[in-house]
Amino acid sequence: MKILLYALLCIVALFAVLLLIAVIRTLLIKNKKCDKKSAIEFTPEEERLYAEKLSEMVKVPTVSAQPGETDLKRFEDFQAVLRKNFPKIFETAEVKDIDSNLLLKIKGKDSSKNGILFMGHQDVVPAPDDGTWKYPPFSGEIAEGRVNGRGAMDCKSTLCAEWQALEELLGEGFVPERDLYLACSVNEENSGDGATRTAEWLKENGIRLAFVMDEGGAVVNGFMPGMSTWVAAAGVVEKGTAHIKFTAKGKGGHSSTPVKGTPIARLSAFVSEIEKKNPFRKEFIPIVTLMFSRLAPYLSFPFRLLLGNLWLFKPLVGFAVPLVSPMANAFLRTTIVFTMSGGSQAPNVIPGEAYVVANIRPSVQQNLEECIEILRKIADKYDLETELVLGHSASRITDPDSDEMKYIEKCVNECYPEYCFTPYYMAGGTDCRKYESVSDNCIRFCPMKIYPDQMAAMHASNESINTDALAEGVKVYKHIMKNYK
Ligand SMILES: [Zn+2]
Repeated sequence: MKILLYALLCIVALFAVLLLIAVIRTLLIKNKKCDKKSAIEFTPEEERLYAEKLSEMVKVPTVSAQPGETDLKRFEDFQAVLRKNFPKIFETAEVKDIDSNLLLKIKGKDSSKNGILFMGHQDVVPAPDDGTWKYPPFSGEIAEGRVNGRGAMDCKSTLCAEWQALEELLGEGFVPERDLYLACSVNEENSGDGATRTAEWLKENGIRLAFVMDEGGAVVNGFMPGMSTWVAAAGVVEKGTAHIKFTAKGKGGHSSTPVKGTPIARLSAFVSEIEKKNPFRKEFIPIVTLMFSRLAPYLSFPFRLLLGNLWLFKPLVGFAVPLVSPMANAFLRTTIVFTMSGGSQAPNVIPGEAYVVANIRPSVQQNLEECIEILRKIADKYDLETELVLGHSASRITDPDSDEMKYIEKCVNECYPEYCFTPYYMAGGTDCRKYESVSDNCIRFCPMKIYPDQMAAMHASNESINTDALAEGVKVYKHIMKNYK
């Protein structure tokens, strides 16, 4: 008994010492704050001009359709707006048009060096004017210091800022050190092949790129609970995505004489099991650990203590953080959510067949095949068929310590001094991964400020971007384009 008590006391004492070390380490982490303005300068006239250009881009409803049904006329109209607003680019560039997916090249001083590419997409998700929009979705209304409408953020603001940056530089007689490319696809939002075909064309022509910059991360506020500072989050990896269909078959019949184990009952039990216990492994991949260590100095004390001392608190953080933040949960594991279902066509008919569809986001630590096997084993218990509709695994990870990433970080630090900069693990998808075959550095980052309400409006009503954020974005892209040797 005494030995047990002694052992218990030792464990408590050890934990107290470790806790003390963690507290001391936390107190030694300098608490950083950045309520500073950016170091970027622009005139009110420039801010107005950029907002008007973006507004014109938003006014063209380049809504993404089902594959093969794209209305290319809308993209012709959109490209007419690009030609009108960015004439110097079109005067100077070699333009490659792959079924309206554009690739423009500005020849650099030394084409033997790997070029750099800035990209985005021309299409937007649908936006029915259902009364929930303060300004009609394709009005491009400039009001309340914002450009409003579908695509104002995702991602016509990215395109507008990239193109305007290059337009201004060309107007100043700039010739890039290396070949500089702009690219924009017409079907990113429906997982189309525009970016794939553009990247394939580059590969076929032997073109390698030092880095590729796409949408993805941004300069955001409210990045994590307990955080009220601006964070420049540059996506270096994105999770995979897949649609998986689970079908239950059984004897249909009249609802007046039911039997147990109908297709819907088995599907429900399956969904319930997955909902109760996510079957995917939880793990801190190195990029997430790095991200938490970058964020820690900017957090309030309790969060700083936890995230700044993952060597001690990993199990606790792994348990607690997902409870308060769905985003943090997505950092740690593959996620799954059921999105569609179907069964009988009438309330008094037991279906002979019913289905549910799940959307999963495979994490870096578990590829798609492994995720499907885990789900198939559970589905088998309920006599369900498992079918992969479409999907892919997570992207490759861009090395956060590569020279190119360090260059982007340096540029961001010069423009947004003392802001937190961190590599970022994206739960959503972009076109960027399709360029992995032509570049080691696929960077998903638009250097523009996004407020929490604007984050929430992505793919929803009342999408907008601040006009001063857009102006800052133009200047940061200029800085990046101009100084890369
Ligand atoms: Zn987008």
